[in-house]
Amino acid sequence: MDVRGKHIVIAGAARSGVAVSILLKQKGAIPFLSDIGPVKDELTNRLQEESISFEQNTHSETAMNGEFLVLSPGVPSTSPIASHYRDAGKKIYSEIEVASWFNNSPIVAVTGSNGKTTVTSWMAHTWKVANREYLLAGNIGTAFSELVEHSAPDVAALLEISSFQLDHIDSFHPEISMILNITPDHLDRYNNSFDQYAGSKKSITKNQSSDDWFIYNFDDPVLSGFAKELSAKENKPRLLSFSSTTEVPNGAFVRGGQLVLKINNEEEYLMQIGDISLPGRHNLNNGMAMALAARASEIRNEYIRESLKTFEGVAHRLEVVRNLNGIRFINDSKATNINAVWYALDSFNMPLTLILGGRDKGNDYLELENQIREKVHTIIAIGEAKEAIKKQLTDVVPNLLEADSMKEAVKLSLKSAKRGELVLLSPACSSFDMFENYEHRGNVFKQAVLEL
Ligand code: ADP
Repeated sequence: MDVRGKHIVIAGAARSGVAVSILLKQKGAIPFLSDIGPVKDELTNRLQEESISFEQNTHSETAMNGEFLVLSPGVPSTSPIASHYRDAGKKIYSEIEVASWFNNSPIVAVTGSNGKTTVTSWMAHTWKVANREYLLAGNIGTAFSELVEHSAPDVAALLEISSFQLDHIDSFHPEISMILNITPDHLDRYNNSFDQYAGSKKSITKNQSSDDWFIYNFDDPVLSGFAKELSAKENKPRLLSFSSTTEVPNGAFVRGGQLVLKINNEEEYLMQIGDISLPGRHNLNNGMAMALAARASEIRNEYIRESLKTFEGVAHRLEVVRNLNGIRFINDSKATNINAVWYALDSFNMPLTLILGGRDKGNDYLELENQIREKVHTIIAIGEAKEAIKKQLTDVVPNLLEADSMKEAVKLSLKSAKRGELVLLSPACSSFDMFENYEHRGNVFKQAVLEL
């Protein structure tokens, strides 16, 4: 795509919007960044330094007249500015799409409802262990636009991709794409349609062909259905899948406690699954997904094995904070939907006190009923979701307490938990009712635990 001399409008001036504006300017375009809300000072300073025109708290006439629109992931596809471009018959692209126009690296792209950051970071760890060069970007903190200048054929671009980025791709083409799972999340941005949300994730394969790879979760019914559809297509990517329950035809699975890789009909025993560094069945899945991406990138088994044994995980995902009086405190603040909490509970076999709640996204907490009945004796409800939690779970759990702050919740948890037990913050909700974001929530939890 030749962007030189083009008036290009970028909607949404957070990190990726600013990064893509800078990239477009460097490539000779005339970017104009527009945000309907206020823009953070550090970002306005950066834009001024780069001499990029921008506006805040409005979308003016200039914002409506770009040759095309670049939509930041935070701006809904149904927003008035996006509708305006669509109605005018103009293209809308996401930041990752635009960055990919200038990319020279093989792309390994990870999407899914849960586990993206874990798997992308785990891949980076593997690439490091194998002494292979990589860029780590996307949803994970650094926009691809910021790093794409460093892309090269022998440097893998390891990208975490959200469905919002996938909504507006056109030529984005990963050599290796991966969908970890598809469970309901963010449905408010998809007209409450699970099919639309799933469709967005599936589009990660749309430009792939027979030289490429698609890695998917065999145990996920939506994904196994999708793989069947893909198999029927001509010029499809090569399929690899992973499963913790079934021996898959091509991919990774478990046999007799061993992780097995079966690629091109050759089976290799990789390691004991008990030696994988992260706990829980979901992390077994994440580790298998990572291993397949590494193998598809021709990384040797010895490096994959070492990485599976040594990866320390990412903060705020089942992160051990402290052992106090024989009680283990675990921070899973990033669990912002029911499925993540289900896997958190599935990861432990001991009595539990669960801190749950925040801003409710219309959760059905009863999906956790079996896990709760089996191991949770106390739930401490926080945030706006308190009422919904009480309504749905009072009859399911022996003790249901409420707290007005994280500090109070942590104090209550110390009283309810006994030696040999676990206190788990795994909220199933977003954090914006009480905190800036999930990291802030996790840090407040950790601080309160450390102060006990
Ligand atoms: P994402 O980047 O997709 O939000 P993270 O790796 O940040 O995923 O993990 C988010 C939450 O989901 C954490 O609570 C984590 O423990 C949980 N989780 C991680 N991997 C999986 C998985 N494969 N399936 C379900 N839950 C998972």
